[in-house]
Amino acid sequence: MINIFQPSLGAEEVAAVAEVFESNWVGKGERTAKFEAAFAEHLGVGQDRVMTVNSCTEGLFLSMQLAEVGPGDDVVLPTVSFVGAGNAVASRGARPVFCDVDPRTLNPTAADVEAALTPVTKAVIVLHYGGRAGEVAEIARLCRERGILLVEDAACAPASRVEGQACGTVGDIGVWSFDGAKILVTGDGGVLTARDPGLVERGRKLTYFGLEQVSGFSQARQAGTRWWEFQISSFSRRSVMNDVQSAIGLVQLGKLGGFVRRRQEIADRYDRRLRGTAGITTPPPLPGGQTSSHYMYWIQLDPAQRDQVAADLYAAGIYTTFRYAALHAVDAYDWDGWLPNAEHAVAATLCLPLHQALADDDVDFVADTLLESVNAR
Ligand SMILES: *Cc1c(COP(=O)(O)O)cnc(C)c1O
Repeated sequence: MINIFQPSLGAEEVAAVAEVFESNWVGKGERTAKFEAAFAEHLGVGQDRVMTVNSCTEGLFLSMQLAEVGPGDDVVLPTVSFVGAGNAVASRGARPVFCDVDPRTLNPTAADVEAALTPVTKAVIVLHYGGRAGEVAEIARLCRERGILLVEDAACAPASRVEGQACGTVGDIGVWSFDGAKILVTGDGGVLTARDPGLVERGRKLTYFGLEQVSGFSQARQAGTRWWEFQISSFSRRSVMNDVQSAIGLVQLGKLGGFVRRRQEIADRYDRRLRGTAGITTPPPLPGGQTSSHYMYWIQLDPAQRDQVAADLYAAGIYTTFRYAALHAVDAYDWDGWLPNAEHAVAATLCLPLHQALADDDVDFVADTLLESVNAR
């Protein structure tokens, strides 16, 4: 089977994990601090603005907590969003307000976001579909004008930039995922960054029981206390990343540029093979001033054919999918609105295999099989 997503983990990652085992410290420690510093440098922000978490979903939940979103508040997000984003809003007793998306890029436009704002909108959560920034800069400007907090779910965009600025640092808070289906993989894990270092400081406490300070023997002795005593500022949980994950992350971060270059070649190859073919719409060209992480490659088909084409590809050993199924259609969110562009996009779009381990022959096999299936309809 040709996988749609696949991690590239090898001997270097194994060696880094072996070192962690030998150190006898597998919990959150030195390596996690090093990974946070390296990721901050990668983003081009200060280390005091970056913290690790055990998943991007935790980062999304934490972002809503840091934004003090609660009952009576609205949070606007595109209906083509990851389920964890919708849950992060609803779990706080706030109302998720779903906005439409551009039918080709599946990213919300600034106009889509603006149309969904209400007098009680406290925050906006956007993602970067397939790795593309979309109109995040315009959306950030809109949010700033209205005093609304902007969260970027940058899970698709670990290496995407807009006018030189890293996606995830354009808004007020950004979160990333390192789960097994992403580009940079640590098993599970994530990062949260905030424009305000004070939010990161609070976030660090919220992800470690609300402990006021973690003191060692000598600090406690100096303060005249015992090192096992503590105070807490909240009744919080433990959702940190550990040194095993961070050791893998440090190796993967060094490979990220190469991963994205290979993904770009694959996306270009799909473009060359599929662009201009009757019955297949390829993604629009990347706007100037933007770079993509190429997390997903998607095509759009006649909705009457899409599911059969996906079945034909599956029968040939090629796994495809659609991300992200519209949240406004999920009963639990109790939403009744009509989002015409998203309705079309979710019925027409199919994501093709894209990961750095694909060979050119694999890509050609996917393209050939796809063309055969579409031509047979
Ligand atoms: C994978 C993904 C997440 C969730 O990440 P986890 O680390 O698995 O919680 C969130 N948002 C988007 C857009 C994703 O693709």
